[in-house]
Amino acid sequence: MKVAVFSTKSYDRQFLEPEAKNCGHEMVFFEPRLTFETSPLAAGFPAICVFVNDKLDEKTLSAIANGGTRLIALRSAGYNNVDLAAARNLGLTVVRVPAYSPHAVAEHTVALILALNRKIHRAYARVREGNFSLDGLLGFDLYERTVGIVGTGKIGAIVAKILNGFGCNLLAYDTKPNPDCEALGVKYVELSELFASSDIVSLHCPLTDETYHLIDADVLNQMKKGVMVINTSRGALIDTEAAIAALKSGKLSYLGLDVYELETDLFFEDLSNSIIQDDVFERLLTFPNAIVTGHQAFFTENALTNIAQTTISNITDFEQGRICPNEVSTS
Ligand code: NAD
Repeated sequence: MKVAVFSTKSYDRQFLEPEAKNCGHEMVFFEPRLTFETSPLAAGFPAICVFVNDKLDEKTLSAIANGGTRLIALRSAGYNNVDLAAARNLGLTVVRVPAYSPHAVAEHTVALILALNRKIHRAYARVREGNFSLDGLLGFDLYERTVGIVGTGKIGAIVAKILNGFGCNLLAYDTKPNPDCEALGVKYVELSELFASSDIVSLHCPLTDETYHLIDADVLNQMKKGVMVINTSRGALIDTEAAIAALKSGKLSYLGLDVYELETDLFFEDLSNSIIQDDVFERLLTFPNAIVTGHQAFFTENALTNIAQTTISNITDFEQGRICPNEVSTS
């Protein structure tokens, strides 16, 4: 099948191309993000392959459907960037990679917790400058601290397992509690209790209308003074301006983000020679107790191998008219 791949980076080509060749698919790699403006690139391709910051709104979907596209193969788990109702009306099939390495994201989550707590980012810079003072580097033992996990699906459950190993007390909130977490001793509580009782809050639920700005000024006020908030899920789960206000007031003592609500114009690109125009993002970077990584939690060899294999197998299922287990329901 002929597939137009959008938002291509060298690593996408490296992992996708050999898998595609093995299955007889022809992949054409485009660097631009898919938007309405770039949608003509998809003309004549029965399938397109997209990533998290490609914008599949109604206008773009109509354009690609008119150009002959029938399949949207997401090389991601999340699909909040696709207007599913519009895709259904246009007869477009949407497939995704539901799990490629929940370990990759869970381990990055724990990396952010540890780095923030022990100020590894500051220590690294200091020691390189010959400054061996410990002032400002004081951390705390994770042992017996309370961690609240919002969303205990594949990733949240692994975070729980790892932090259980550190001896943390684990609270969780999920619309569907996970029996594996319950067996581990995770205590499911209401969100308000989780926010009020946790020393660390880590977000692992999807971005939906319901979870948009789940962490806003009100919620930050309900949290313990000195709380740590980690988000490796989707940026818009947090109202960034409210988080900045809480960092300024000292209510929030640590913020670890791998995702940012306006990341689309920033992440995955080298902007080191540009002046970044997003003042909210720039303010975030001024805090010594905030760490931002550029949506890299998934970025391991294992995950990229799994993403390539599942994406190609999804495309083959569609081409051969088989039911694809990874089809996103558009109903
Ligand atoms: P999953 O579907 O296995 O788990 C999500 C969990 O959230 C489920 O248990 C679900 O019941 C729960 N949930 C749904 N609505 C909720 C709500 N309103 N409140 C609380 N819980 C709710 O997904 P996953 O594989 O664990 O991924 C979690 C999120 O991580 C994804 O939605 C995606 O946005 C994000 N993600 C980020 C990266 C990255 O590189 N940073 C990579 C992969 C996934």
